[in-house]
Amino acid sequence: MRKLLRVDITVPGGGETAELLEAWLAGRAAQGWEESVLDDGETVRFRVHMEDAPPARAFAEEVAADWPDLPREVSTLEEEDWGAAWMAFFTPIEVGGVYEILPPWMADHDTGGKKPIIIEPKMAFGTGHHPTTALCLACLADLHRSGAIAPGQEFLDLGTGSGILGIGLCRLGLTGVGLDIDPQAVWCAADNLRLNGVEGSMSLAVGGVGSLAPDSRFEVVAANILAAPLMAMARLLVRHVAPGGLLVLSGILETQADDVAAAYQATGLGQPVRRVSGEWASLSWR
Ligand code: SAH
Repeated sequence: MRKLLRVDITVPGGGETAELLEAWLAGRAAQGWEESVLDDGETVRFRVHMEDAPPARAFAEEVAADWPDLPREVSTLEEEDWGAAWMAFFTPIEVGGVYEILPPWMADHDTGGKKPIIIEPKMAFGTGHHPTTALCLACLADLHRSGAIAPGQEFLDLGTGSGILGIGLCRLGLTGVGLDIDPQAVWCAADNLRLNGVEGSMSLAVGGVGSLAPDSRFEVVAANILAAPLMAMARLLVRHVAPGGLLVLSGILETQADDVAAAYQATGLGQPVRRVSGEWASLSWR
């Protein structure tokens, strides 16, 4: 029977350690996590659910190795609780006044005119609950409202994860490509494309920016990855933005935003627009 592994990590007192752990999780618990403040008003509990398979066990070991001082608890849930666990966690969320993100079991939900994005929460990052995803979608929604993003344009969704940003762009009438270096994310994105009926508008492949044809250009490039890889790929990525196109970056801690902006400005771009949510930031250029 399929089981779900639950890893609870508690940070007594919360504070900076909680922030560091959150940044650490952003790189490892790709599918997201629940974060709650316990009854004492300061202890923060991070709860991660993964399908009970070797990657989940490896994750639990990594937590123990990297955060030896934090209390943690690893438990398994039976399959029948698996859906329930996600259902409790995954509630519809509205982003940028344009989108509503829904799990498949709420696909019939009345979105009141918002564009639905249906996401099956699995092993890939991008349920829309993470501030970096929400920042990107809000940015895309604003650019759509201002007319900068329009039907018929082509996009690149680099680090597509669950496929959420690409699906959001397909909903606005664009077509494009989703790339991810993690094959599991690409599988997951493929499922989500089908759930949203946009498999004809977005192609998927395993790979990074280096796997693109060198002369390929996109009017909209979105990359919600992490500061270090984004800085390393600045020159390569900017080359794929069509003249007059848009670039949206996230996965950046606010404290890293100046460095990431500088790396992209060094390629000839101007000042980015910066959006901040909690400790996370997104940068966008028109
Ligand atoms: N786009 C989704 C997922 C972001 S998570 C969202 O906005 O929510 C970041 C994803 O980038 C992960 O799935 C990870 O596997 C992928 N990734 C990490 N480094 C990458 C790289 N160098 N090139 C392409 N994808 C990368």
